[in-house]
Amino acid sequence: MRDNDWFPNDGEENVGQTFQRGAEELQRIPNAVPDQEGLIEGPVLALRDLIIYPNMISPIFIARKRSLLAIEEARKNNQTVIALTQFDAKIDHPEPEDLYQVGVEVAIGNLLTLPDGSNSALVQGRRRVEIVEFTQTEPYAYVQARPVISPKEIDQEMEALMRTVIGMFERCVQLNRSLPEEAYLFALNIDDPGWLADMVASAIAPTVRERQRLLETYDPRMRLKQVSELLANEVDVLELEDKIHSRVQKEVNRNQREMYLREQLKAIQMELGEGDVWTSDLAEIENLIEVANLPEEPYKRALKELNRLSQMPPMSPEVGVIRTYIDWIVDLPWAQKTEDNLDINHAAMVLDQNHYGLPRAKERILEYLAVRSLKPKKPRQPILCFVGAPGTGKTSLGKSIAEALERKFVRLSLGGVRDEAEIRGHRRTYIGALPGRILQTMRRATTLNPLFMLDEIDKLGTDYRGDPASALLEVLDPEQNHTFSDHYLEIPYDLSQVMFITTANTRSTIPWALLDRMEVIEFPGYIEEEKIMIARNFLIPRQLEESGLDADEIHYTESAIKRLIREYTYEAGVRNLEREIGRTYRKIARLKASKKRFPSRVGANALEKYLGPPKYFDMEAERTDEVGVATSLAWTDAGGDISPVEVVLIDGKGTLQITGHVGDVMQESAQAGLSYLKSRAKELNVDSDRFESTDVHVHIPEGAIPKDGPSAGITIATAMISAFTGRSVRKEVGMTGEITLRGRVLPIGGVREKVLAAHRAGLKTVILPKRNQKDLVEIPKKTRGELNVNLVTHIDEVIEIALCPEEEANTTPSRRKKDKSPTKGQVDSAPGQSIQPGA
Ligand code: ADP
Repeated sequence: MRDNDWFPNDGEENVGQTFQRGAEELQRIPNAVPDQEGLIEGPVLALRDLIIYPNMISPIFIARKRSLLAIEEARKNNQTVIALTQFDAKIDHPEPEDLYQVGVEVAIGNLLTLPDGSNSALVQGRRRVEIVEFTQTEPYAYVQARPVISPKEIDQEMEALMRTVIGMFERCVQLNRSLPEEAYLFALNIDDPGWLADMVASAIAPTVRERQRLLETYDPRMRLKQVSELLANEVDVLELEDKIHSRVQKEVNRNQREMYLREQLKAIQMELGEGDVWTSDLAEIENLIEVANLPEEPYKRALKELNRLSQMPPMSPEVGVIRTYIDWIVDLPWAQKTEDNLDINHAAMVLDQNHYGLPRAKERILEYLAVRSLKPKKPRQPILCFVGAPGTGKTSLGKSIAEALERKFVRLSLGGVRDEAEIRGHRRTYIGALPGRILQTMRRATTLNPLFMLDEIDKLGTDYRGDPASALLEVLDPEQNHTFSDHYLEIPYDLSQVMFITTANTRSTIPWALLDRMEVIEFPGYIEEEKIMIARNFLIPRQLEESGLDADEIHYTESAIKRLIREYTYEAGVRNLEREIGRTYRKIARLKASKKRFPSRVGANALEKYLGPPKYFDMEAERTDEVGVATSLAWTDAGGDISPVEVVLIDGKGTLQITGHVGDVMQESAQAGLSYLKSRAKELNVDSDRFESTDVHVHIPEGAIPKDGPSAGITIATAMISAFTGRSVRKEVGMTGEITLRGRVLPIGGVREKVLAAHRAGLKTVILPKRNQKDLVEIPKKTRGELNVNLVTHIDEVIEIALCPEEEANTTPSRRKKDKSPTKGQVDSAPGQSIQPGA
C-alpha cells in the first residue's frame, strides 16, 4: 500500500480534481446505518502503514487476497468498510489482536487493475469508529463498531487554536518544499476543528503511531493542541534546515558567481583579441618545465607551483611572484655540465699564453689540475685564494684557468656584502624576494660546474643582518655545499662541482674561518721590467686591437712605457698602465677616424700631448737629505708604498704628539722610539735637559689614509734622533722594522711589496730587520741587484746607515713635497685603504 495522499502533487491532477472525481463516485456509497444500540458493522480492511482520517481521500493499493475479498463484498453491497491499521506493518495475516481498536469507516471507489496484476482504489474516510467486536475472521474479518461523535461547535479558545494551527501550517508549507501551497489553502477553508486537526496531522505527523494517537484523540480541542505541538516542532526543524540550506546555497552561489565572472572575463579577452592568453601562458610554462630536464625535486616543485598558478585568476598579484619563482627553477643549471679538459700541457700552454711571469701561481694551479686528473673524484681540494694588489693579474689568471679547463667563468664581487641574505637570498614571503647572489651567478653560469671567482673576500662586512661569512663557509665547504640552501629557492642546490677561487687584496682582513679553509697564493706585484714585458706582450696588443688600430701601425717606444710606469701610474699591478696605454691609443684612433694625420710611434715626450702632465712627480731629483724626515716602507692594499715620517721639535713641556690618522700600535711605537732616545741621550750627544723643554710632534702625512702597525717603529725613531741630533737623514734610504725599548729591531711582514715599492720610488738603500732575510728570495734578482739591502738587528745600525755623519749635519730642514704637484708615494687611494700592520 502506498502512503496517503490528500494532495497528489504529481503535476497531472490537482487536489480539486481528485477531490471532485473521488467525491462524485465515492459520494454514492452511504454510511452504514447504526442499529438500536448505535452500532454499525462491516468488513475489515487491514492497513499496513497508513491511516485514513475522516474526510480524507486517498488512493490505496490492494495486494492481499483478504483485503480484496473484503472490498469486493462491500462494493457488491454498496457498503462501507472498517479500515484498521496494523501495529506491525510486516504482518501479512493480521489477527484481531494485531490491529488498533480505533479505526475509520471508509468508502471505497472502483477497483482498478494495474498492469502488474495488483489493484488500486480511491478511498474516502467517513468517521472514527471504535471496534466493539470481531464477528468473523475468515475468509476476511468482520466487525461491529461504534461511530465516534465529536462536537463541532467553535468557541473562542477553539478559534484561537485553529488560527494558531493555520498560521503555523502556513509557515510549514513555506519551508517544506514537499508540501504544496494548495495544502495551506485547503486547510484555510476548513471550519470544522476536528477535521482541521486531522488534515494537518495527515500532512505533517511523522509516524504511523503518532497518527494513530491523533486518531484516538476524540476531543477536537485536544487534537488541535497536539497538532500545534507537532507543528511547532516541525517549524523549528524546518527553519534550522532552511538556515543550513541557505548558508550552503550562499557558498554555492558565490562560487558560481566567480565562475561566471571568470568565464565572462575570458569571453571579453577573446573579444579584445587577446585570445586565451592565460591558458596559453600556462601551457608555455608547463612546456618550459618539461623541456628543462629538471631533476625530480625541482621538477615536482615546479609542477606544484604551476598547479597553484593555474588555479589563480590571471590578474592576481601572486601570479607574478609564482612565475618568477618557476622561472628561477627552470633557468638554474641543474644538470648541464661541461667536460673538464685536464690535459696539463694544454693548461700550461694556455696560462703562459695569457700571462707573463707569475711562476708560483701557475705552478700551483698546474699541480692542482694534475691531482684532479689523476684522482677525478678526490673530494677535498683546497679552495685557492689569490691575494695581491689590484691589477696583479688575479682575475685574468682565473679566467685563464677556466679557459684551460674549458669551464665557464663567472665572477661575483663580495665587496661590501654585509647581509647574509645577499648570499642566501630572501624568503619568498618578502616582497620582491630573489635568490642570493650565489644562485644568481650560477644562473649566469648556465652550467653546474663553472669556475666561480669570489672577488674581494677580504671586504666582506658583518652586521646585525647576519654574518655573510658563515653563509660563504657553507658555499665553500665541500662537505656541505652539495646541498646549499637558498632561502628563496627552498630546494637544496648542488654547488659541489663548482670550482671556487677567491681573491683578496690582503689576507689580514679575510675572516679567519674562511682563511683557514683556503690555500693562499700571493700575487706580489711587478717590478718595472716585468711591467714592460707585460705591456709589450699583452697590454699593448690588446689595447691596439680594442681601439681598432693595426698592430704594425703604431709603435710604443720602451722609453714611453717606462715613463708611463714611473710618472703616470704608480701601482703594484698593471691596471692603470693598461688604462693609460688604452687612452693614448684612443686619442690616436680618433685622429685616424677623422682622417687626420696620426703618428706612427708614441715616444716618451709625446705622452704629455695625449695624457696631460705627469701625475706622479719623480722625487729622486728633488729629494734632499733632511733633518727630522725619514722614509718608511709601508704595505697597503694597493701593494707597497713609501711614506715619509716627519718630526718637528717645538719649545714646550716635553709632550709627544703624533698626527696623521695613526692607530694605537703606531702611537706606541712612537712612544717606544722616544723612550729609547731618552735612554741613549748621552751616547747620541743629546742634552738630556732638552727633553723637558721640548714638545715632539711626529706627523705621518697623507692623513686621510688610516695607518697602523709597528713597522714604522725604526723610521719614527730615526726621524726623532735626526731631529734631536740635527743629523740629516740620507735621502736615498727607506726602512721598515719594529723597535723595542732597548733598540732592537724586530721583523715585519710584506717585505716583497715594500722593497718593490722602495725600488719603484727610486730609493737606493733599504733597511730591513735581520730576521726578514728569508723573505728576500721573493724579490726579483734584478731589483735586489739595484738596491743596497741592509739587514739590521739594532737601531744603532739603522742610525749608522741612515743618518749623515755629524759634521755633515744640515740643520735647516726643508720641505719635501713640491707645492701641489703630487709626489711619488701618493697612490690613487680609495677610501678605506690602510697601511697595514707590518708584522
Ligand atoms: P686583479 O684581478 O688582480 O685586480 P686583473 O686580472 O684584472 O687584476 O689584471 C688587470 C689587467 O692586467 C688585466 O688586463 C690582465 O690581463 C693584465 N695582467 C695582469 N697581470 C698580467 C700578467 N702577468 N700577464 C699578462 N697580463 C697581465
